[in-house]
Amino acid sequence: MSIGRVVVLTGPSGVGKGTLLKAILAQHPEAFLSISATTRSPRSGEVDGQHYYFLSRADFQAKIAEREFLEWAEFAGNLYGTPRSPVIEQVNQGRTVILEIELEGARQVRQTLPTARQVMLLPPSIEELERRIRERATEDEVAIARRLDRAQAEISAAKEFDRCVINDQLDSAIAALEDAIFA
Ligand code: 5GP
Repeated sequence: MSIGRVVVLTGPSGVGKGTLLKAILAQHPEAFLSISATTRSPRSGEVDGQHYYFLSRADFQAKIAEREFLEWAEFAGNLYGTPRSPVIEQVNQGRTVILEIELEGARQVRQTLPTARQVMLLPPSIEELERRIRERATEDEVAIARRLDRAQAEISAAKEFDRCVINDQLDSAIAALEDAIFA
């Protein structure tokens, strides 16, 4: 069996990565979405071990020391990381493994796994992105400002990526992202 592909999906907070991935994964049971670890608190409806592994900062730091992460980064005051071993296992089984991670993590993967495909999901505009982040209304003003700040930086880095998809109209964005991941 041939080895699978690792796909990094990056895009500013609120761009709709989760929504599009959910639709795509429903059509592609052969793909595997990596479950990250984070020190951020669960949002309502988020389940430990399903959306994230929710860890204390001390536990997260112990895993960094044990080199358990393929990559990790600090984002808007919290730590996020990709557990290494599930990625290796799934790729060795020939599956497409998707890492939904922010820019610094994507850059680390570019160094450690240069064959990984790097995909950036972009909003139609920064104004539309701000509207979507506010609509979600899970963060306070400080957190929203930090996320918008990082969004600007991520959008400016789009040229580093192999493929860019704009999340404008839902159906066409799903089709374009599916193509960017699997084709
Ligand atoms: P959120 O708090 O909205 O779930 O995620 C914030 C940001 O962290 C998003 O851009 C998301 O892609 C990123 N992220 C989630 N998991 C990881 C990870 O394992 N590593 C890195 N570097 N970023 C992650």
